[in-house]
Amino acid sequence: MKFALVQGEKTVATKGAIGFCPGCGARLVPHCGKKYIHHWKHKGKRNCDKWWENETEWHRAWKEQFPVNWQEIVHKDQNGEKHIADVKTEHGWVFEFQHSYLKDDERKARDAFYQNLIWVVDGMRRKRDIPQFERALDEGIIINNSPTIWNVFIDECRLLEEWVECRSPVLFDFYGVNKPEGATLWLLLPWRLDGRACVLKVPWMDFIKFQRVGRNTKGKGFAEILENYKKILIYYQHRRAQEMEQIARQIQSRQFRLPLPRRSSQPYRRKPKRRSYRRPKSSRWKKRW
Ligand SMILES: [Zn+2]
Repeated sequence: MKFALVQGEKTVATKGAIGFCPGCGARLVPHCGKKYIHHWKHKGKRNCDKWWENETEWHRAWKEQFPVNWQEIVHKDQNGEKHIADVKTEHGWVFEFQHSYLKDDERKARDAFYQNLIWVVDGMRRKRDIPQFERALDEGIIINNSPTIWNVFIDECRLLEEWVECRSPVLFDFYGVNKPEGATLWLLLPWRLDGRACVLKVPWMDFIKFQRVGRNTKGKGFAEILENYKKILIYYQHRRAQEMEQIARQIQSRQFRLPLPRRSSQPYRRKPKRRSYRRPKSSRWKKRW
């Protein structure tokens, strides 16, 4: 953990300090070696939060984007179950930064435990994730402009396969620890369209600022923005269903126009043929009539 309680204050690990776990109150040991980032640890292999993951620099870099009093917050549900959220904003959103692989069961448990959860997934852990994700985008289709939303196939992209069934929004971070200012994250929406995933680009800096404030310039919170995305997907689906219906109708009407067996009693009316020749004005003609 990054923080322990030292005389009731959130404090980072320093050599020889005495701190206590904000979750269970047990005494923590500061680890200030050179190999790992400085952190606090329970004695031995014990840990009061079974979901706790050993932190990497990437975890820390993300946490530091938020105020200290939002980091490592003990969260308790109705049953008294306690977990430490990586970040919990004042606006009620919990961030979980996930570096290593997470089993489906545990992901579902966390989705259920935290009501408003945003996952941030490290997309740099496996080398193949970026090319796979890029290919998925290439083969996907754009279903909405401004914001541009892609509808992408999930097979052949492991990252999407692992996260597509998640009930909470997921952000993929393909930039690692040191992000340039213009870095973008990919937001995976918690709804599928035709069995495919829906993703869109989110500027990293803007997203952090927005989460700190809790509202965008139009006064909308993240929940409202997500709801808006959902409406876009529903509208797209509806529009496409209408189009399909129209096509089906066209095909049907064409089928009725296909040649039916003609009956002699009901012949097709034909346009009279235009004469392309002039009557000869010969004498023979006159005689005939
Ligand atoms: Zn503890």
